[in-house]
Amino acid sequence: EPVAIVCVGMAGSGKTTFMQRINAHLHGKREPPYVINLDPAVLNVPFESNIDIRDSVNYKEVMKQYNLGPNGGILTSLNLFSTKVDQILKLLEKRTAPDPENPSKKPIKNILVDTPGQIEVFVWSASGQILLESLASTFPTVIAYIIDTPRTASTSTFMSNMLYACSILYKTKLPMILVFNKTDVKDADFAKEWMTDYDAFQAALSNDEAANAFGGVEGEGAGSGYMSSLLNSMSMMLEEFYAHLSVVGVSSMTGAGVDDFFAAVREKAEEFKKDYRPELERKR
Ligand code: GDP
Ligand code: MG
Repeated sequence: EPVAIVCVGMAGSGKTTFMQRINAHLHGKREPPYVINLDPAVLNVPFESNIDIRDSVNYKEVMKQYNLGPNGGILTSLNLFSTKVDQILKLLEKRTAPDPENPSKKPIKNILVDTPGQIEVFVWSASGQILLESLASTFPTVIAYIIDTPRTASTSTFMSNMLYACSILYKTKLPMILVFNKTDVKDADFAKEWMTDYDAFQAALSNDEAANAFGGVEGEGAGSGYMSSLLNSMSMMLEEFYAHLSVVGVSSMTGAGVDDFFAAVREKAEEFKKDYRPELERKR
């Protein structure tokens, strides 16, 4: 059964570069994926996509016609595109099934989806929800949450990023892989350690607190009593969240970690079939 991998993440985290990397990886293994670009505002897509939102909606025209700014333009483009979701699913079903007229042609095993740079436009919009739900009702679907590792190395940005990932997990209710990207710049070991060793994160927290005690405004920042007790409670809550995740470190630049990523995809796809799908079907 094919699996759909939906890449989400903050603008600049490396979604598009990551897509390019895993696309090349699958081509290298002679398992070309089916690639969907849902970012209407991207200028250059560095990979060949089978479905490109830009072929059916012109984001600049949408902005002009509806008198919208960039975010409104992206959102409206996505809304217009989501009306075609039935056609897209038909296409996907056709390409992922064996072709009776051409039995030597291998059915597609992976569907890769790139999403708009502004994460909220996809995750928090009705059309994003429709697109995700339609995919998940047809294929095992996993969320790849891409993280800019060098930019998440302080305890407070790390915590914020994890809370955001947690909210996406809760909103989409799909299995999630945390992809710590750009490991060529900064290794992801610190993140893995913070996620598995509560004491290590607490130690890092007190370190940052000590650093904040000098130069910080009194009563503000992670050094203050309120902040540190909030951080403590949040990190306890996150422990539960971490237990349900797969975590991989990758470099979209060098290709390091891509095999680990696909191992995580297989694991999460199994989980989808076992736990998520029955739940989805129960709700329908
Ligand atoms: P998106 O907005 O999430 O689609 O991010 P992009 O894929 O456009 O990447 C944003 C920036 O990060 C670009 O300048 C990329 O070259 C850079 N980038 C992406 N992945 C990596 C990586 O693994 N290593 C390094 N060093 N830079 C990366
Ligand atoms: Mg992008």
